[in-house]
Amino acid sequence: MARKSYTPGDFELVVRRSKTGLGLFAESEVPKGACIIEYRGVDITAEQEAKSRSKYLFEINSRRTIDGAPRWNTARYINHSCRPNCEPTIHKGRVWIHSRRRIKPGEELNYDYGKNYFNQYLKDICACPKCEEKRSAAKASVAKATARKRAGKAAKKAGAAKPAASPRK
Ligand SMILES: [Zn+2]
Repeated sequence: MARKSYTPGDFELVVRRSKTGLGLFAESEVPKGACIIEYRGVDITAEQEAKSRSKYLFEINSRRTIDGAPRWNTARYINHSCRPNCEPTIHKGRVWIHSRRRIKPGEELNYDYGKNYFNQYLKDICACPKCEEKRSAAKASVAKATARKRAGKAAKKAGAAKPAASPRK
């Protein structure tokens, strides 16, 4: 495989409305493994980090964190997904977003924000396909159990009301 590039390709990216507010979309095809955009931000101190309420903090390493909240950081519009098509890579102190697979024009870009962020902010509201599948599977199994209970009650009622019927020929 070719070595990872750290120069963003010439891809058409657009910020527009997504399922969860604004999102960043690819308007041209992105091949697998391509460098798409840099996640840029301002350096903040540990003290600022502790007080910060920004949702755009990105830890470069144990000593350095950037805040990507400024609007000139277009990558801030990339939403989280538990089944993402992109991934961040830290390279020489900078954060780059690469595609994990081929991305078709019109697809929203997303990457996994990581366990801590997920547990803190997204656990119950994540709208990614994986979480929606999980939630609807959970709902379906509750519905099934309820249906089973109802069917059981109905059968009991029916059994009590009607005398045991012998099969008719
Ligand atoms: Zn999810």
